[in-house]
Amino acid sequence: MKKHNYSAGPCILPQEVFEKSAQAILNFNNSDLSILEISHRSKDFVAVMEEARALVLELLGLEGKGYQALFLHGGASLEFLMVPYNLMKVDGKAAYLDTGTWANNAIKEAKHFGETLVVASSKEQNYNHIPKGYTVPADANYFHCTSNNTIFGTQMKSFPELDLPIVCDMSSDIFSRSLDFSKFDLIYAGAQKNMGPAGATLVVVKETLLGKTGRTIPSMLDYEKHIKAESMYNTPAVFPIYASLLTLQWLKNLGGIPAIEKINEAKAHLLYTEIDRNPLFKGTAAIEDRSNMNATFLLTHPEHQETFDTMWKAAGISGLPGHRSVGGYRASMYNALPMESVQVLVDVMQALEKAV
Ligand SMILES: *Cc1c(COP(=O)(O)O)cnc(C)c1O
Repeated sequence: MKKHNYSAGPCILPQEVFEKSAQAILNFNNSDLSILEISHRSKDFVAVMEEARALVLELLGLEGKGYQALFLHGGASLEFLMVPYNLMKVDGKAAYLDTGTWANNAIKEAKHFGETLVVASSKEQNYNHIPKGYTVPADANYFHCTSNNTIFGTQMKSFPELDLPIVCDMSSDIFSRSLDFSKFDLIYAGAQKNMGPAGATLVVVKETLLGKTGRTIPSMLDYEKHIKAESMYNTPAVFPIYASLLTLQWLKNLGGIPAIEKINEAKAHLLYTEIDRNPLFKGTAAIEDRSNMNATFLLTHPEHQETFDTMWKAAGISGLPGHRSVGGYRASMYNALPMESVQVLVDVMQALEKAV
């Protein structure tokens, strides 16, 4: 029996993506070749890359709006430095919102390139909320934020209205909810949370943003070079990109972001209702900021840990322990996690209440 997979990343993908990916490893597009052994310049793979790039823009509602979608390497973590390299002017500065470990890592990398202002931080409260009411200096080259804080279970429900470019790390909630994506000038995400397996990194960038820093940028770190090469400046991550395409197709067939958003809201509502109701559990994130993707919670009586752990494991649940910086539990409810899996967890939480 397949596990109820709550892993924070890499994580669950749609079952049909696993099946079609497995088929493509054996025989891709009836070519009698595996997708693992074909050239990235072959007609069949060029078509995969083109469709994946186009589908990203279509699903985000960004077609024909001056954006380019790229599949790069190095994870979201390499974007932490590619963003300032490509957007921070020589002698310029950038503004960052510090909402968690990943935001903090992005800040560390930006400091290599110039003045990096942290406009607000929730670090003192162990990142249990999203700071609000901050001001962003008008002369910053861009504002950087993290839409969903995978480790701390918080999610930005709104974004500041600014007259400067907005850059967002959407690694753990891209394609999960409707937003006006055209408010963002650059979006990036490691594939391995809502889009595909590890190994590909999505970057969606407004082309007019680029080429203005006065810096010389090494080729592999230069978004303009990757755009010019149609995301094939070097050998792309062929298989992760193919599996990402399958996930994007799955999402489109489901009805796109508006359809998955409804399901995600229902899943989060079901679990948070139980966390709030059940006296044995408490959430760690401020209610108005809590994430629909990663729900973080603790036992109110830690002595029940062994019993609870035994119970959820027996129910076929996997990947529930929290990140070490929060403790407790983290239920990652990415797009592909079915409602039934959330019901199984809620049933176990209720069974614990009866058992102790
Ligand atoms: C997982 C994650 C990262 C790190 O991604 P890598 O692809 O491993 O570099 C960065 N930001 C957020 C929000 C994440 O969830």
